[in-house]
Amino acid sequence: MSSKFDVLFRGATVVDPVHRVNSRLDIGVQNGKVVELGPALSGAQADSVIDLSGYTVMPGVIDTHTHVRGPAQRMMALAGVCTALDMGDMRGVLQELPEWGCGLNIAGLQGIGHWPNEPPSRGEVASLIDAAMADGAIGIKIVGGHRPSTPEATALMIDQANLAGVYVAFHVGTTATASNLPGLLEAVELAGDNCLHIAHVNSYLRGMDRDPVDETLVGLAAIGGRNNLVSESYLAVINGTGGQIGPDGLPTSHVTRNCLKLRGYSPDEKGMEAAIRDGYCLVKVTEGGVTAIYTGEPGVALWRSMGTNAPVSFPVNQPQATFLCAVRKDGEGRFVVDAIATDGGSTPRNVAVEYGLCLVRYQALTLNEFVLKTSTVGAAMLGLRNKGHLGAGADADLTVLDMDKGIAAMTVVGGKVVMADGILHGSGGTIITTPRGESRVREMGYRYQIVHPEEMLLYTKQRQG
Ligand SMILES: [Zn+2]
Repeated sequence: MSSKFDVLFRGATVVDPVHRVNSRLDIGVQNGKVVELGPALSGAQADSVIDLSGYTVMPGVIDTHTHVRGPAQRMMALAGVCTALDMGDMRGVLQELPEWGCGLNIAGLQGIGHWPNEPPSRGEVASLIDAAMADGAIGIKIVGGHRPSTPEATALMIDQANLAGVYVAFHVGTTATASNLPGLLEAVELAGDNCLHIAHVNSYLRGMDRDPVDETLVGLAAIGGRNNLVSESYLAVINGTGGQIGPDGLPTSHVTRNCLKLRGYSPDEKGMEAAIRDGYCLVKVTEGGVTAIYTGEPGVALWRSMGTNAPVSFPVNQPQATFLCAVRKDGEGRFVVDAIATDGGSTPRNVAVEYGLCLVRYQALTLNEFVLKTSTVGAAMLGLRNKGHLGAGADADLTVLDMDKGIAAMTVVGGKVVMADGILHGSGGTIITTPRGESRVREMGYRYQIVHPEEMLLYTKQRQG
């Protein structure tokens, strides 16, 4: 007789805001789907039973802002992430999946942009979008702040992505502004009536111009109540940028230049070196399958050994701003910023669970709200109807929380344990793509799931009003 369940997760407190569940339930899984939930399902009908007594189970964390390169997937699985949206390099993600995949679901955007002078033609942007979609991306990310384009070119990219009906996210900032509050206000203007995902809202509110709380309230007021905008913010103090010095002796990333200026370092090669030596700039490198951080003289040496082209981080995010972005609601009780993400991956700040649960402990968010902002809304953002909840038929993606320690104890994707107690067990992955990317992903031999941009929150939010 065949078993009723491939695996039975037993004894955890299950939190599912969609089905208003917050009680001790067993979860029966077959073929990667939740097939039954009940207070006492029989283990006799299961091939395997995993005892989760004392733990809390939520629908798998969906991180809607990540960078899936190098050790990123490992670091995300360790942090309880089941599904991630890569912001910028879908081609790289597909290439690296065999080497670095550890069983997660990955969707991706392809980064485009950098027209600081003459704007591109519509045809040029349209063909970049077509190429990104054919390569499996669900849309584009306008790289903005790091490598800004003119406001005109930026508006054109947003408009063309809307015309093409693909996902479009924006790291704000143009040649007229930067990754700051004016950049955020400008982004709202440049979107006009078009739909736009504003990436990591908190990162523009670093107190560059005035008190970070004032900046944050102004920024949140500008995006609140606009149903053509979706957004996420993250909770970490460190950012992620590049340490490369260009032929002109200046950091190629404008974000890096701003970080140096923020603490009084000259925005050039000398300033970078001093910032690394002082421990203000963190140089990152992959070691033993995860990301290691160096500062001081070893940091300078590492940065030099990489020809300055090293990923770096600065502790520039304002806790007041990240807090407000995470918890602030509008007059109708809706969160102004839709999701809690991380902008993590290989940058060691995959803290949506760890810091998010701090907010729950602090009663700044209820556990239900935490699950909404780290899973349910993410599923809506990616048009994934079978994720973000744990009803019968849902994908068996589970993040198992140790509420005492405030961390993810286990990550389950499609009923398979990919991480337990800090040990990784998964490989490969499932690519989330659109019908336009299906043949590429199939060609590469990967598992995949099809989504439709018109069913994503980016577009449904406006239709629903
Ligand atoms: Zn990012």
